Amino acid sequence: MSQVQQVTAVGSVALDTLDTPFGRVEDAIGGSISYISAVGGLFAPVNVVAVVGDDFPMDEYDFLHDRNVNLDGLEVKAGDTFRWEGRYHEDMNIRDTISTELGVFEDFQPRLPLAAREARYLLLANIHPALQLQVLEQMTDPRLVAFDTMNLWIDTVRDQVDKMIGKVDLVIVNDEEITLLTGRQSSLAGALELAKTGPRYVVVKKGEHGALLVGNDGSIFICPAFPVAHPKDPTGAGDTFAGAMIAYLAATDDIGMFNLRRAMVYGTVAASFAVEDFGLNRLKSLTVNEIEERFRLFRSMVEF
Ligand code: AMP
Repeated sequence: MSQVQQVTAVGSVALDTLDTPFGRVEDAIGGSISYISAVGGLFAPVNVVAVVGDDFPMDEYDFLHDRNVNLDGLEVKAGDTFRWEGRYHEDMNIRDTISTELGVFEDFQPRLPLAAREARYLLLANIHPALQLQVLEQMTDPRLVAFDTMNLWIDTVRDQVDKMIGKVDLVIVNDEEITLLTGRQSSLAGALELAKTGPRYVVVKKGEHGALLVGNDGSIFICPAFPVAHPKDPTGAGDTFAGAMIAYLAATDDIGMFNLRRAMVYGTVAASFAVEDFGLNRLKSLTVNEIEERFRLFRSMVEF
């Protein structure tokens, strides 16, 4: 019998300004950690490792206490919270970064509380690879280390990104990033190539077109996205996907290929909720039952 394991996640906590064809919000609570912990906590205990400024409205995180999220590793520092502004095109697969202000992230030195160090599942969400490495080095004995990144780090600190890829079990990137990393236009070819460089699994996210999972033994799983007719804001879909996926793996404590497939479907289903409203709005009210119901619906949609 497997037992529920804990997740540690490091990433950004942000105040986001989001502009989509369906509206605009300013200073919405965001950053990868917000999405990961909001959804991850529905599956397994999550230890957060991140930093905010003293301007951060901490009461916005009250709902996380009921979700098994441990905020002891969320450092509050004098200064400004990380801020990010993004604008989506009519085709919401395309997004421009309007501004990034690092604030207290600039000189963040993650120090993990004991519970965070001892978790068996580690999600290194998108932050500078040097910070990801600092967190990885503090872990006692992680069973599965998952890694996300972004074009900014691939373009500016490629050697550090490559070093991290050599140390992790599961790489989760999007189709633009797999092309940047491997030079392959085909995400399948890119994922197969990357899986030969160390990770046991590579996942490529393709937004509304679903995701691809490749094992280092060459095995392949394709996962469509759960169809959403009226998405309002895609921000955080990738983080929600990764958060649900890793927390499901921790909850089941099984990192075999078949369970990875199922975890991916949970990730896809969770992400479909995230895009239905701005920022964290939809995830705040999300329940396990709603996820399970959509999981069953997903299964009926791909059966033939
Ligand atoms: P996603 O839509 O899954 O790519 O994630 C969007 C989230 O990433 C937003 O809430 C942003 O605050 C956060 N973000 C954007 N740029 C960065 C960055 N350079 N470092 C860390 N987090 C970022």
